[in-house]
Amino acid sequence: MMIRRKDNGQQDRWEKLQSYFTCPVKEISYPMTTQYILTGWLIDGGGGPPRKSAMLKIDDGIISKVSDFDPHNLPEPAALIDLSFATIVPPFIDCHVHLAVSGTTDPEARKQQAEADFEEVRPIIRRHILYHFRHGVLAVRDAGDRGGYALRYADQPVAAPEEPLIVKAAGMAWHQQGRYGKMIGRTPAEGETLVEAFSRQTVQGDLVKLVNSGPNSLHEFARETQPQYSVAEMQQIVAMAAKTGKKVMVHANGRIPVRLALEAGCHSIEHGYFMGRENLQLMAEKGTFLVPTLYAMKALSELADTAGARKIAARNLAHQLEQVALAREIGVKIALGTDSGSPGVLHGESVAEELKLFVKAGYSLAGAIHCATAAGAELLGVDAGLLAAGRPAHFLVARGTPAQLPRKFSYLEAIYLNGKPSPFYRKNPIRGVF
Ligand SMILES: [Zn+2]
Repeated sequence: MMIRRKDNGQQDRWEKLQSYFTCPVKEISYPMTTQYILTGWLIDGGGGPPRKSAMLKIDDGIISKVSDFDPHNLPEPAALIDLSFATIVPPFIDCHVHLAVSGTTDPEARKQQAEADFEEVRPIIRRHILYHFRHGVLAVRDAGDRGGYALRYADQPVAAPEEPLIVKAAGMAWHQQGRYGKMIGRTPAEGETLVEAFSRQTVQGDLVKLVNSGPNSLHEFARETQPQYSVAEMQQIVAMAAKTGKKVMVHANGRIPVRLALEAGCHSIEHGYFMGRENLQLMAEKGTFLVPTLYAMKALSELADTAGARKIAARNLAHQLEQVALAREIGVKIALGTDSGSPGVLHGESVAEELKLFVKAGYSLAGAIHCATAAGAELLGVDAGLLAAGRPAHFLVARGTPAQLPRKFSYLEAIYLNGKPSPFYRKNPIRGVF
């Protein structure tokens, strides 16, 4: 029998977090329920150009109006928060992380992590959650680990209000016996189909993660691997997941593995290297998300063991940048995901690195931020990512002008949640973590 997680398990956590966002700050006493934020520049997450000197009117933590600054019509000084020295953007959403694994490049440390039990991994996950938040990330989608630990952690009652991160976790990813995916999941048992295995699972994730190809080769450029599952198998998983409102994310590189996942109706393609133009067109038609995980490949191009491997990784990255440029042109929905936990890809701080690569692929800064905010919120189904009337006043304060971004995202001035600075933000991202 399938033991369901409480249907509203994640909702409970989200609601608790929402109350944590405000309750500790209330003690500092903010007498007004209406306040005005004067921004230097506003990038609202919608993808449009930065807006200079925009004013946000906030009522009880919700944005009620966005307007241009009017020097002849100023609010009461006490109700005005002057952030005119800064650029304001929505908090980030990282759509592909592995919270149970650190981005260390030390092989011994990676081996230890690969053998650790939940009690050993728990403080690591907590540390990664704090890193994410302190780099301006409000929500992550966890793409799986071999013990389902990130899901287990996220399912606990919220231990502490200082972890204001929304975690949507896949639990253990599904791969085939003898194929790639051991580090992030499990396989159906001998003689069992994916659908049978999926039906008898005892813990359900917030979403489903399938692994439908191998990794990208660092020995041979663009080597394609066989798909792991058929269209029919994946279709059934998509239908079963849909019964509880869940989406299916698929690790897939190469033309055929991506094609099959798209035909099966999966919701997002993770990595998607070497999928080709036809698949990108199909993604645009179907509204399937691409999470291109660029920085993980850049890290390999700098850190892989041999010069040959580094060279192939650099070619892979160049090719993927071209695919992302094409995807943007033909209107594929793209959400930002870092693949944090991969070698050299550190939780939280890698978001700014990924943004830089989106810009390198041809996105405007605001377009890249859209992928890291509103697009991610759509993929995860969370109410964040857009600074507009009726939306919660969650935003990041980055000192300086848009021209200094994404770099300045590494040194945020503050993170506002429901219109108030979060007391849990630390400018030094590792302070108090250990
Ligand atoms: Zn991954």
